[in-house]
Amino acid sequence: MGVPRNEDFNGTDQSGAGYYQLNTSKGWRCSTASAFLKPARGRSNLRIETGAVATGIVFEGRRAVAVRYQQAGVLKEARCTGEVLLAAGAIQSPQLLQLSGIGPRALLERHGFALHVDAPEVGENLQDHLQIRLGYECTQHITTNDQLNSWLGRIRIGLQWLLFRQGPLAVGINQGGAFMHALPYEAQTPDIQFHVATLSADMAGGKVHPYSGFTLSVCQLRPRSRGHIRIRSSDPLEPPEIQPNYLAAAQDRHTIVAGVKAARAIAASAPMRPYVRREVEPGPTVTDDTDLLEFCRNHGATIFHPVGTCRMGSDPGAVVDIRLRVNGVSGLRVVDCSVMPTLVSGNTHAAAVMLAEKAADMIRDDAKARFSQVS
Ligand SMILES: Cc1cc2nc3c(=O)[nH]c(=O)nc-3n(C[C@H](O)[C@H](O)[C@H](O)COP(=O)(O)OP(=O)(O)OC[C@H]3O[C@@H](n4cnc5c(N)ncnc54)[C@H](O)[C@@H]3O)c2cc1C
Repeated sequence: MGVPRNEDFNGTDQSGAGYYQLNTSKGWRCSTASAFLKPARGRSNLRIETGAVATGIVFEGRRAVAVRYQQAGVLKEARCTGEVLLAAGAIQSPQLLQLSGIGPRALLERHGFALHVDAPEVGENLQDHLQIRLGYECTQHITTNDQLNSWLGRIRIGLQWLLFRQGPLAVGINQGGAFMHALPYEAQTPDIQFHVATLSADMAGGKVHPYSGFTLSVCQLRPRSRGHIRIRSSDPLEPPEIQPNYLAAAQDRHTIVAGVKAARAIAASAPMRPYVRREVEPGPTVTDDTDLLEFCRNHGATIFHPVGTCRMGSDPGAVVDIRLRVNGVSGLRVVDCSVMPTLVSGNTHAAAVMLAEKAADMIRDDAKARFSQVS
């Protein structure tokens, strides 16, 4: 297909096909909670509250001084002398700002909130990677479906992991993939990403098909469509409206259709042909661009990379400034994927961790500067 082999997607060049790198440790997926929080649990200046749902930020004048939260049905408040850091992710950070009176005036007034800051962009600019999955039946019994569909296979997988920390349980579902061009004339860097799973199911996380199957998934890396997050009531426990507006932009529609065609070309290539019995989805009846787009609309799903809803920028419309401080108030920063002005061209987790590392440096530097001014 002319796509080079890439041994390190996080190296100098993202283009190419290869195996995905994973955050694992000794066969376990390694979350930021286990990598960062667990080792710091013994510190005297850290208290971790679990089962706590933040419901709003408390202000004195224009300064954020506390966080309100509910725990086991009890309303509580955590006060701070330094800064409040909002890190509830791209869906709930804008929701919490809106619940705290920072957001679009009309929305807040509609739900009866006193306005602290009229910030029209809070909750806007939502971007996400829409994933289109193409399902295939394999000619040979070599897929994870085959292992999961038999008692013996399941026992073997379990033992592989228990005894050697190896096998399907020690890796992600999408073990390999590629970054490549669907519309070569449009982008200098790859505009689509593939995730390849050695199993198939009707939906992500669902029961695998009874036949040998695998999945080629494609997503557009830099979508132009923009959606929003908006509170639907003054109840902090009511989930907000999530409107991703996938495929609203013409460019996104062109790219995703070209991406599905690229996936089909890979499946039809000479090295793959011996393994493909049939394309189950979209299937042979879906052929022209209109039908392919309709398939994408009806079957596309999030790949869980929402960003952009508390956009960082140096312009007056930005929700946070370039040091992640919420504009219009003091003592409040947002540190999560919501601050990304545009979606990164790949999976978001490593970018979220880097963002948090950078934020930690800025918070420390600013605290030192404040301290030296006082002393
Ligand atoms: C199923 C799934 C699979 C993924 N797979 C990958 C992958 O393979 N590779 C990759 O790079 N990325 C992956 N991602 C994306 C990656 O996990 C996210 O981009 C990243 O975690 C975002 O970090 P964040 O800090 O912005 O938000 P989050 O990690 O979402 O952190 C926000 C936290 O705030 C908490 N919270 C929210 N509201 C409240 C509230 N009101 N009160 C108290 N706490 C609250 C949430 O419980 C959560 O713990 C995946 C995401 C999902 C959901």
